[in-house]
Amino acid sequence: MSEKVISPDLGFVKDVIRSGGESLKKCYQCATCTVVCNVTPEDNPFPRKEMIQAQWGLKDELFGNPDIWLCHQCSDCSAYCPRGANPGEVLGAVRKMSIEKHSKPAFLARMVGDSRWLVPLIAVPVALFLMFLSMIGNLPFSNIPRIDGAISFRSMMPLVPFVDGTFILAFNFALIVLAVGVLSYWKDLSRNATPQGSLVGAIISTVLEILVHRKFDQCDVASGRKIAHMLVFFGFIGLAVTTSLSFLYEWGLHRHLAHLFVDGEAVMIVTPEAMKAGEWEGVSAVPMSDPLKWIGNASALALAVGVVLLLINRVATAAKAGIGGYYDWLFLAVVTTVGATGILSQFTRMADMAGLAYSMYFLHLVSIFFLFAYAPYSKMAHMVYRTTAMVFANMSGRK
Ligand code: SF4
Ligand code: SF4
Repeated sequence: MSEKVISPDLGFVKDVIRSGGESLKKCYQCATCTVVCNVTPEDNPFPRKEMIQAQWGLKDELFGNPDIWLCHQCSDCSAYCPRGANPGEVLGAVRKMSIEKHSKPAFLARMVGDSRWLVPLIAVPVALFLMFLSMIGNLPFSNIPRIDGAISFRSMMPLVPFVDGTFILAFNFALIVLAVGVLSYWKDLSRNATPQGSLVGAIISTVLEILVHRKFDQCDVASGRKIAHMLVFFGFIGLAVTTSLSFLYEWGLHRHLAHLFVDGEAVMIVTPEAMKAGEWEGVSAVPMSDPLKWIGNASALALAVGVVLLLINRVATAAKAGIGGYYDWLFLAVVTTVGATGILSQFTRMADMAGLAYSMYFLHLVSIFFLFAYAPYSKMAHMVYRTTAMVFANMSGRK
């Protein structure tokens, strides 16, 4: 009979504890958590086995295990754990460390997960956008020219090259880091199991499952999270559609779309001619009658309501399920800031409150940068890694 030698990695155990799994060592392996978890498969269920893997520092087993992502942090197990070991939070800590392992460079991942680095991380986009404003003479804000007497964010910070240039770079950087991370994670997963069947079929069934948030119906303690999570999720998708639409408007399709939707009203963003001539000014805001505004405002509202509901749910279930760590709260704070500053920018601009409107728009740009550029290292990345784990689980028959 062959024997497997287990070498505990004590450094890893300390890292789990530092990352939010403080109660890890309280676990005495009673398996109540596994019994109460409504989403775990019957075969080789979680989270008891992950608790012992984490206690023993078996990082390869944990990082190559799709189960850490199949758990959707409903916290039922934490609520029923007789030892207060908080298995839901421990799995959250392991997921955070999994993101740190796969998202390169690792030091950036560690910085995003550590509150001591928050100010330097915010300082990057603040310095960048202040530099742009200073380059075009828009500091202080009172220098910013008005367009036809109205506040214009386009003349405050021209989309081309500053806003578009920055966000295209940030977005592509995030995309590349996430793609490399997913490939590395898939390799880890494939060490423990062999995926079979159709990748396309697994992706389709995973996406359908995510769209209806089926798993959320199965948990007890935090069942109220489903609506909130759906609002945040679809709010995000709506804002992504809004951003893509505004990009299309700006890069040439705006005339066609403007005629199509607003009966010929000129929706001038930046025309190719103006770009060639280097004229960034002379541009007006998209009118409220445009579908871009409808989708954008509806999505921002969904996001805002979703975040408030998530906050209420988190506080209401804190005694049973834990209040969450810095990592969770940072994500909620960034999403809230993006939504709130977006809405406030629009309303303060319409109310002609120039100083406030420019400040809100500045914060909006800073928070969007934070959201996108640091996405591969933040809780945002869980969308990608969880989806990957679900696809892998579908393909390897782990339902
Ligand atoms: S985490 Fe809690 S419920 Fe789960 S095995 Fe350990 S002590 Fe039992
Ligand atoms: S947090 Fe919820 S889904 Fe995750 S292991 Fe615990 S009970 Fe299961």
